[in-house]
Amino acid sequence: MMRRRCLRETAARAALISISILCQASGAGSVLGQVGPSAKDKALVSVNGMSDADYGECVSDLASKKAVFEQPRAVSEAGCQISGAIKLATVATSFGDVVISGKPAMLCSFGRQFSAWVREVAAPLTLAYAGQKLAEIEAGQSFACRARYDKPGSVPSEHAKGDAIDIASFVLANKRRINVKQQASDNPGERDLLHALRMTACGYFTTVLGPGSDPAHESHFHFDTGLHGATPNYRICE
Ligand SMILES: [Zn+2]
Repeated sequence: MMRRRCLRETAARAALISISILCQASGAGSVLGQVGPSAKDKALVSVNGMSDADYGECVSDLASKKAVFEQPRAVSEAGCQISGAIKLATVATSFGDVVISGKPAMLCSFGRQFSAWVREVAAPLTLAYAGQKLAEIEAGQSFACRARYDKPGSVPSEHAKGDAIDIASFVLANKRRINVKQQASDNPGERDLLHALRMTACGYFTTVLGPGSDPAHESHFHFDTGLHGATPNYRICE
């Protein structure tokens, strides 16, 4: 019998809002993603990876674009494993370096896609809309062994495959923080920037969710590159 315990913790600290979701599967043969009658065969929640050649190419591509990252290669957590992982610390852009807080672990291929969005879109759009350089992206979860919507028995989330990231806020060079979860009192220009960031992400990721999509995404953007059909042409852009 499966027992699973999840602890969702949203901590607002003096200078940082961080979203962390800790999930722990307990008991032998624990599963996260039970799907239909064959669930017993799917005891291991999720394994995802890249070939050595693809990983090598991905890592050298990121390095050539001056990203700062670690190469743990394989990372695992409570029944989920990704091989071909990186921990992304900084993305270099024409407008300066953008720190990715918490140095999240992710599949290198996802890191490359995310870095491209930061470099090609997020940095220039932030400067254009806010008149300040983008200094930091406050990321919540990237790799995390959990089911979609944290619903036990559901299929593994793209987070379990290292193919997703959550973003709580964007920090400008002048230290101003633009939270994805907007308050009525927030500057309309910030809303426009967030809208632009979200819409452009749809060109880079196959799933883009955020406030208004559903109750689970009221406080952050979720981007992933999961396949929703036979081809990557089908996208969820909300
Ligand atoms: Zn997410």
